[in-house]
Amino acid sequence: MIRATLLGATGSIGASALELAREFRGRIRFVSMAARSNDAALVPAAEEFGVKRIALADPEAAARARGRFRGEVLEGEEGLARLAEDPDADVVVNALVGSAGLRPSIAALRAGKRLALANKESVVLAGELLVATARERGGTILPVDSEHGGLHQCLGHAPHDSVRRLILTASGGPFLRRDLATLRAATREEVLRHPTWSMGERITVDCATLVNKGFEIIEARWLFGVAPEKIEVVIHPQSIVHAMVEFVDGSVVAQLSRPDMRLPLLYALSYPERWESSLPRLDVAALQGLEFEAPDPARSPGLTLARKALALGGTAPAALNAADEEAVRLFLSGAIGFEDLTALVDEVLSEHRPAAVTDLGAVWSADRWARSRLTDLASSRSRP
Ligand code: NAD
Ligand code: MG
Repeated sequence: MIRATLLGATGSIGASALELAREFRGRIRFVSMAARSNDAALVPAAEEFGVKRIALADPEAAARARGRFRGEVLEGEEGLARLAEDPDADVVVNALVGSAGLRPSIAALRAGKRLALANKESVVLAGELLVATARERGGTILPVDSEHGGLHQCLGHAPHDSVRRLILTASGGPFLRRDLATLRAATREEVLRHPTWSMGERITVDCATLVNKGFEIIEARWLFGVAPEKIEVVIHPQSIVHAMVEFVDGSVVAQLSRPDMRLPLLYALSYPERWESSLPRLDVAALQGLEFEAPDPARSPGLTLARKALALGGTAPAALNAADEEAVRLFLSGAIGFEDLTALVDEVLSEHRPAAVTDLGAVWSADRWARSRLTDLASSRSRP
């Protein structure tokens, strides 16, 4: 029986985790759950699974929850970090979105837990530190990202020097075939219509710019300790092949499944075991027309941004994440257009003077700087 904490229980990955726990009642038990402000969804989920403790990042939501929930209600960033280190749990599922996920990731690894990590931003912000913390404290990181779960499976126990390159697939997002001349003016609604995956808003926007895939290069770089030039992205619109590993002898191993996030979650929770599930199966004989192509740089600014951030090193990926988080927020609120989104992020990244990530202080100061710089640049741009 796995005793787990679910951070981000009210989101898209959170919902997948709740569904899995319903299927595996005898194997997965949630002891605590957290979300930002949606107490109306969190409290019923906590009651359904009989959890003892919940946390809400928003203190007003926590106050509301105290009137309705019989267990303990924690609040604020501190409350989420406390759940992440709760000795009652062996596993922390981090399905938070954005930089808010970093502190709980570090807290879980410091406590020596298994971290089932959907919050890729943790790795973008402080990948090296995260991996070092896991190593020092006996914690483990199992990625809950379809590509990285796939890589983990393709790699198995292969020696590090047997790997020639890691290949991440990308659906290409909603604009893979769109006329480049009109791409600049893509609307919020068009951006949010992802062809193969149904996800939270931030990652969906990041799929349209391929910033998400860029983040995944950074994620693979730290989680698997592979140099950025050995990590490639290939466009695969059907989202059936999630990752491939090419070994030095020339053999390529791929991982396939239907696009369903419950599967990478199940793998991260059950590893090294495999649990029999009722998830829809892949009908291999019916597979037709799996396509692969190289990404078009004009449609994938996010890949360029991520490689630039990795080359700059230190706090540059943290600045990239923060600038993108703000730019996505401004785009979703209608304050900036699609064409401004990655252009502004690029400006912030170019101006950033990276510092070494020796502790989280450096990360948070880069994060603050990049957010305010992006907001300033965006407001000066929107002025006539
Ligand atoms: P979502 O927006 O649907 O859910 C986010 C969750 O985080 C919610 O429960 C919300 O309450 C909580 N949250 C947001 N901001 C918070 C804050 N400041 N403090 C505390 N809690 C906060 O997002 P999602 O699509 O479920 O994505 C979650 C993470 O998983 C992201 O890092 C994303 O990149 C990653 N991921 C998602 C998918 C997917 O299919 N959705 C696939 C791969 C990776
Ligand atoms: Mg992914």
